[in-house]
Amino acid sequence: MKWTAEAEGALRKVPFFVRKRVRARVEKEAADENKQTVSLSEVQATQARYLSAMKSEVKGYQLDTCFGPGGCPHRANPADRLMERIDSLLKKENLLGFLREQVGDDLKFHHEFRVTLAECPNACSQPQIKDVGILGACVPQITKAACSACGACEKICKENAVFLRPQRGAPGISARRCVGCGSCIPVCPTGTLVESRRGFRVQVGGKLGRHPALAIELPGIYREDETIDIVTACIRFYKAHGRHGERFAQILQRTGLQKLIDSSERLGAMMAIKGKIQGH
Ligand code: SF4
Ligand code: SF4
Ligand code: SF4
Repeated sequence: MKWTAEAEGALRKVPFFVRKRVRARVEKEAADENKQTVSLSEVQATQARYLSAMKSEVKGYQLDTCFGPGGCPHRANPADRLMERIDSLLKKENLLGFLREQVGDDLKFHHEFRVTLAECPNACSQPQIKDVGILGACVPQITKAACSACGACEKICKENAVFLRPQRGAPGISARRCVGCGSCIPVCPTGTLVESRRGFRVQVGGKLGRHPALAIELPGIYREDETIDIVTACIRFYKAHGRHGERFAQILQRTGLQKLIDSSERLGAMMAIKGKIQGH
């Protein structure tokens, strides 16, 4: 669909992270009215409808995913089932009821609790700026199968985490550098590199807005059940400590991350096993 320069100008004022969605919505509404071109009036009409509908559309949480399920070849760990489980959890926790109590009639989309799943460390759905961000991970391990020193693993690793050691007959992997993308595993022709485990990395407390903050990564890789336990602990903590619709990041800045960990026996036990949170 064509856009006039004025309409494009109005769209450019929309924050970049929702611009694509707004464009799609404006075009859909214009198409529903048999329009071939989007002008400023179409953008304004969508904006007016959006503002009046906002109250009824706010559901208390936002859950999204990257384009992995659409067939992205980079998926390190498919998260379809986890997505369904988190959706049920978010519904069950009645975040809308909680936010209505806290915010009242002024409830808007920006108050909603945000969870996102990205199925590999490329993080296309921006987990770093969500209340809870989950990243699919696939970690390699070295077997006894002889390495042919073909170099394919070293070439594909963008992190310089895998390095050849022909004299030892097997490569080395830097656990500190490896982000768990799993890319080195399928390219290994000898079976020297195989999958050790799949799971999810979890980041908490990211946000944009007036005081942006990047999420903090919890140490380790978590199984699906453990990830659900972490998300549950985050939601419960958010409901116990959130005031007037403040974002999860603000709560964590006020209370400290340790208080979140101490709030859940399960989370505390997992952190004790997985290790120390960087910078904390
Ligand atoms: S995060 Fe990874 S799996 Fe998801 S769309 Fe991006 S590259 Fe693909
Ligand atoms: S899993 Fe990814 S980051 Fe880790 S060593 Fe393999 S290619 Fe590198
Ligand atoms: S891809 Fe496999 S065989 Fe080739 S260098 Fe790496 S570990 Fe060795």
